Amino acid sequence: MSDHFTITWIDKGQPPRVASDPSHPDGVHIDSGRRPACRVELPYMTQTNIGLWLVQCDKCRTNMMITMASRPDDPVSVMLPCKINQTPTGKTKQ
Ligand SMILES: [Zn+2]
Repeated sequence: MSDHFTITWIDKGQPPRVASDPSHPDGVHIDSGRRPACRVELPYMTQTNIGLWLVQCDKCRTNMMITMASRPDDPVSVMLPCKINQTPTGKTKQ
């Protein structure tokens, strides 16, 4: 769920110039592989210009910028590495 995230759109003021990648017609999922992480659903295909989503976790204050091209191959979700509940070794149970 995306109930504790603040998602802000930063519009670059230009439409996309490059064609969408046909191998990702339903968007992509961004995952850096780091854990723990929070899954954030992005407002997919809600903009018309290229730009950035600034995603911030309200619990741990982690934030990330995600580039958007307003094309079908845009990210639909992201695994945002979370700073809370992190053990000293950085390992968590799956
Ligand atoms: Zn968090």
